[in-house]
Amino acid sequence: MSKLQIAVRDIADEMRERTDRGEVATYIPELANVDRKHFGIAVVGVDGEVVVGGDHDMPFSIQSVSKVFTLTLALGKAGDRLWQRVGREPSGSPFNSVVQLEYERGKPRNPFINAGAIAVTDLILSGHQPREALGEILRFIRFLADDQSIGIDEKVAASEQRTGFRNAALANYMKSFGVLDNPVDLTLGVYFHQCAIAMSCLQLARAGRYLAMSGRNPATGHPVINAERARRINAVMLTCGHYDGSGEFAYRVGLPGKSGVGGGILCVAPGKASIAVWSPGLDAAGNSHLGRVALEALTRRMGWSIFGA
Ligand code: GLN
Repeated sequence: MSKLQIAVRDIADEMRERTDRGEVATYIPELANVDRKHFGIAVVGVDGEVVVGGDHDMPFSIQSVSKVFTLTLALGKAGDRLWQRVGREPSGSPFNSVVQLEYERGKPRNPFINAGAIAVTDLILSGHQPREALGEILRFIRFLADDQSIGIDEKVAASEQRTGFRNAALANYMKSFGVLDNPVDLTLGVYFHQCAIAMSCLQLARAGRYLAMSGRNPATGHPVINAERARRINAVMLTCGHYDGSGEFAYRVGLPGKSGVGGGILCVAPGKASIAVWSPGLDAAGNSHLGRVALEALTRRMGWSIFGA
């Protein structure tokens, strides 16, 4: 067994036994039905080595992890003009915070908090029907993962659509400043559906490989994005990917990562591996508790922190 295989096996064994599991998100009612006991991990090395543990094959709601893929798409569409609409500073506020938007005249701090992600989705939607925009997002993720079976959990999307009052407030507020181009309900519809994409850890780790490989897609060798852009998306993941828990994540794990309230985290060890973990119980900042614990253990054992072994 390789060092990585042993580490992943040990971590999956340990996570199965842990009793500190955090709390599942309940503000999207459908997510409250997910069993907290799940834990999955998948590591896809840049050399093609694939190592998995626990429930690595079970699809879960990727939620905010989708924001990495929509940011990549929107940068492809708008280039660096995107940064006129959305900043790239950590917010230090919860993912669904409203106050900062007022101080900053409707310009979201970064593309990973909800307001910023809604503004990014609005950009992808421009010039398209919602169905086409959603199709483009889904096709892109399927292409990255090299897996046509990835789809949307319509129950989760409908559940959030019924209860997404906070996101509607954020979107309407941005609209009042002219930050959104499309009708608010259409932008939100696409956003709720992209968040409801269901993927397993293995699919997610495969989809994230381009960020570990300077923007290249290993299936074809062709670039998805250029190396500079991959580097910069990783930088924003490191500083903003865990909301007001981003400092703690950098301190403990030391890698770019993006979390979602479904309990998934996509994590990038540049030049080494793409990693996905899933455990539905969240900490106070809305990030997977055991997901973070597992990644901390993995990076420590593998010496993968970008800040030094
Ligand atoms: N769909 C969720 C929301 O907008 C995503 C939040 C998250 O995963 N942190 O509230």
